[in-house]
Amino acid sequence: MIGYFKNIYQVAAGLLKGLRVTLVHLFQPAVTVQYPYEKLTTGERFRGALAFHPDVCISCDMCVRACPSDCISLEAARNEATGKKDLHWYQIDFAKCNFCRLCEEICPTKPKAVHHTPDYELTFRDRSEFLVRWTPEAPQPKASEPGQIWSRFLTRGQKIVDRQGKVPASSTPSKPVA
Ligand code: SF4
Ligand code: SF4
Repeated sequence: MIGYFKNIYQVAAGLLKGLRVTLVHLFQPAVTVQYPYEKLTTGERFRGALAFHPDVCISCDMCVRACPSDCISLEAARNEATGKKDLHWYQIDFAKCNFCRLCEEICPTKPKAVHHTPDYELTFRDRSEFLVRWTPEAPQPKASEPGQIWSRFLTRGQKIVDRQGKVPASSTPSKPVA
């Protein structure tokens, strides 16, 4: 009989304990982030989407050699007039990238020609879209607002779609969420 009432007491105490937590949080401000209308700020060293600046890159190949996933490739040719290498294209296979930052750390330019951004909204609708290529002729971004980095990244780079080099309509960068 004592065990019966003890059992009832323990269940009631547990119930009240749970309800107390509910009541405490009922009168506190909500902490749920209404994504995608609201977004959390990422840490200073967050490793988001990689951005590349063809105007800064000196085609030294160091990032290509440092990348453990073998996902960076580039083509450049020596310019006899300037004595420097002219970049033709720079490419990252995001299907292989593990976001390790080694390419950024080894890059000798200041500012870094390749670097992570705080942008974590990476979406690819097709396997071939993982391959992103930048060329010096591609339009350079003007905006610098947080949250638009990925669309700027897409503007700067070009998604490669097939072996014929055709770019699909789906590679058009979508508008960032306001
Ligand atoms: S972050 Fe790492 S895996 Fe990705 S491209 Fe750079 S070096 Fe390669
Ligand atoms: S991104 Fe940096 S490390 Fe890579 S080739 Fe260009 S300058 Fe060299």
